[in-house]
Amino acid sequence: MSLYRDTGAVVARGIIPGATRVLRRVGSALLDTLLPPDCPSCHGDVDRAGHFCPACFRQLTFIADPCCTRCGQPFVSASFGGTRMICAPCEEAPPPWRAGRAALVYDDWSRCLVLGLKYGDRTELAPILATHMGRIGQSLLARADIVVPVPLHRGRLFRRRYNQAALLAWALARQAGIAVGPDLLVRVRSTAPLARLGRAARRDVLRGAIAIRPRRRDAIANRHVVLVDDVMTTGATLGECTRVLLAAGAASVDVLVAARAPAPDEPRHPEKSAASRERYAVAG
Ligand SMILES: [Zn+2]
Ligand SMILES: [Zn+2]
Repeated sequence: MSLYRDTGAVVARGIIPGATRVLRRVGSALLDTLLPPDCPSCHGDVDRAGHFCPACFRQLTFIADPCCTRCGQPFVSASFGGTRMICAPCEEAPPPWRAGRAALVYDDWSRCLVLGLKYGDRTELAPILATHMGRIGQSLLARADIVVPVPLHRGRLFRRRYNQAALLAWALARQAGIAVGPDLLVRVRSTAPLARLGRAARRDVLRGAIAIRPRRRDAIANRHVVLVDDVMTTGATLGECTRVLLAAGAASVDVLVAARAPAPDEPRHPEKSAASRERYAVAG
């Protein structure tokens, strides 16, 4: 900023940003020569950093319409969602958030990416997954004021050194040009895995486990929030975070995740929809 001030507004608006762009391009080309970009999944050669090779791209199941507008579960055909495009579990027990989307079906291929980010120190996967989340969640991000990650308990954060949901939230917010609140929610109590519990038991386990950081309460009031996590399975943790955000005065909460896994008590995800993949034709 001081450089811009010292050299005048005309230069700041014209030459310097132009020069910065050129330098960035040269730097990126140089980096590509020294460290050729590789596929984030198989490490094979690709043309551009952050893109999947065609073989891996074909294996990933991106979720496009038709899918449940509340939880992102893909439908084989639009008739599965009825007139409101809502899946049967969401119809039976509506989640507390307004709308939810997921970029990928959680299968063997996306699991490698998600677990690599979560446990494998592969933090470079966050912006790549965020790009696909941003594409599928475009309408949610367009009406959002702030992106908030699902929090990690301090003990887990210490062991893992980073919160994968926070990395996704940072990348999404940067790409969408909106604010991020990585410390707005705090996990005050660690919880055991929830997937094997029934719905009521999950709620019991989670009650009081997540809270708003008191000094950040103002950042939530009247804001439209996009809540971010890596995987949605039962949706229980996302649901508890949503309830906490709404109780703190959030105007609305939408949910955006990298991958959607069916809960153990949900029917398995229907077979891949080639048609939906074609509609979501992103090169890499
Ligand atoms: Zn590959
Ligand atoms: Zn649903």
